[in-house]
Amino acid sequence: MRDRIYRAEALILRRSDFGEADRLLLLATPGGKRRVVAKGVRKTMSKLAGHIELFTHASLLLAVGRNLDLLTQSQTINGHSTLRADLRRLSCAYYAAELYDRFTREEDESRPLFAVLVETFGALNHSANPDLVLRTYELRLLHLSGYRPHLYHCAICGALLDEEADRFSPALGGVLCPRDRGADRGALALGGPVFRLLRYLQGQPFAAIEPLRLSPLVRGEAERLLRAYLRQLLERDLKSVAFLDDVKGVD
Ligand SMILES: [Zn+2]
Repeated sequence: MRDRIYRAEALILRRSDFGEADRLLLLATPGGKRRVVAKGVRKTMSKLAGHIELFTHASLLLAVGRNLDLLTQSQTINGHSTLRADLRRLSCAYYAAELYDRFTREEDESRPLFAVLVETFGALNHSANPDLVLRTYELRLLHLSGYRPHLYHCAICGALLDEEADRFSPALGGVLCPRDRGADRGALALGGPVFRLLRYLQGQPFAAIEPLRLSPLVRGEAERLLRAYLRQLLERDLKSVAFLDDVKGVD
């Protein structure tokens, strides 16, 4: 039997008004995705309010409710305040949160995925390359969800790929060898620098993206390729993609 009161580490992914003074929160936790209610937090005297800002990493105390569990205490681990003050970083965080939401179900317990999300928000808060943080996050998420793109072996025949490979197939989930490059007419052109970048990001920790200096062209192509693959898997674009693109247009 579950305890009536339990502690959970969480990232706050979405907040919406609920009832007169409450908020409904969408949380990512090591035990999966949770929807909980924070009671009275829209009142000015609420002590909880300052600890449930969007994209905060917190240690929570929750009480089992009849329908939704109730948040009773929150201790901030990392408030990610830089991220929330910067529109570009903020748009990246919305995107990361929505992607997590779309790839998981409430009962999907995943400590590794939660750890990746914590790393992602931490990196979005300070990284000089927030776009590459998102690419790394996408590759980690795809790997942990069972959709790791084929970047070392041809997605059709399994042959070891070399620098000559120049097609990425969103439908087949990876790069095609020169012999199979015509097999999927929907395959996208893949330039050498982007191919090297994707392989690098797939195998490196988040910190390894900091020294990278890349042209906007390479960054843009990496984004387009992974976005096409994600769109294929999710069967549509994410809502936050429009926000991400709008903010980019402002720069
Ligand atoms: Zn092949």
